[in-house]
Amino acid sequence: MIVWLEKGADASYVQRVLADLGLWALRLDGPEGTVGFSVQPWSRKVPLETLRGIEGVASVAAPASSHRLVDAATLPVEVAGVRIGGSRPVLMAGPCSVETPGQIEQVAGRLAARGVTFLRGGAFKPRSSPYAFQGHGEQALAWLRRAADAHGLKVVTEALSEASVPAVAEVADLIQVGSRNMHNSALLQAIARRGKAVLLKRGMAATVEEWLQAGEYLLFHGASAVVFCERGIRSFDASTRNLLDLGAVALLRHVHQLPVVVDPSHALGRRDLMPPLARAALAAGAAGLLVEIHPSPGQALSDGPQALRLDDFDALVDSLETATPAIRTPPAPPAGRADRAGR
Ligand code: PEP
Ligand code: MN
Repeated sequence: MIVWLEKGADASYVQRVLADLGLWALRLDGPEGTVGFSVQPWSRKVPLETLRGIEGVASVAAPASSHRLVDAATLPVEVAGVRIGGSRPVLMAGPCSVETPGQIEQVAGRLAARGVTFLRGGAFKPRSSPYAFQGHGEQALAWLRRAADAHGLKVVTEALSEASVPAVAEVADLIQVGSRNMHNSALLQAIARRGKAVLLKRGMAATVEEWLQAGEYLLFHGASAVVFCERGIRSFDASTRNLLDLGAVALLRHVHQLPVVVDPSHALGRRDLMPPLARAALAAGAAGLLVEIHPSPGQALSDGPQALRLDDFDALVDSLETATPAIRTPPAPPAGRADRAGR
């Protein structure tokens, strides 16, 4: 983007204003004494109108963005009455897979007591192996919704395919797009057409630009809001399951001003390093966390090694509360049944 100045304008004044707005601007000396500033891509996102309004600015030339609706999004977003990207980090937690009514009920009760807002749990599971547990499907959705309602929680769960979209959209407050599906534009459209908010996981080898464009698909086709979720990307190093890209989290939050939550569970693949990484995620600007929990990880049907035990989760929230006291702010009162009609 280039900001051109009027002839005779005070260039150092404009440069100061740009810097105060969080823009990195390099001076350009054009022909016949014209002066401009080239704004670097890592600058803060500022509306073009604000730039055009600076005294001495003649014009602003901006390349067309391929994600205009994402660019125009503002913080916080509201999802089923919950603010995401405001001052209070939002906790989303639950098992990798919804396994039994008892399992999800036990987890939901424990999470609600610790200020969790969204209950997660997979009913349709994207698994790398065809021999692995694929999820209990529609009956698991019903167990998940019942457990959430019993404890005043919202539901986030994945729509794995176009075929599962109607059933998932019926029960979910926030529809999850899994990492393996971020590039599936047909699925993105089918989900978006439901008009609900979407949790968009970053593809495991997706650039930030591709991730934002997937968000654009969702907003363009009718999603009410997009919450981005960084869950770790592929790296050359297998010491942890994936590489959590906290730079991308800071970029989305502080430059693009977007709601982004972090999933340290799939990033790490192990439970022991969860507290420090979760604290780091919030410090980097995450609007919340998505964490896997299981009452008995040794018996989990999927992702047991990374699931926190219920007591581990209490310890995690304790440590988050110390580092980020805003987590302790009481959430909005649980939405009652009347509210659910509008889901
Ligand atoms: C999940 O959250 O259940 C999941 C499968 O994660 P991902 O799509 O990030 O692998
Ligand atoms: Mn999982």
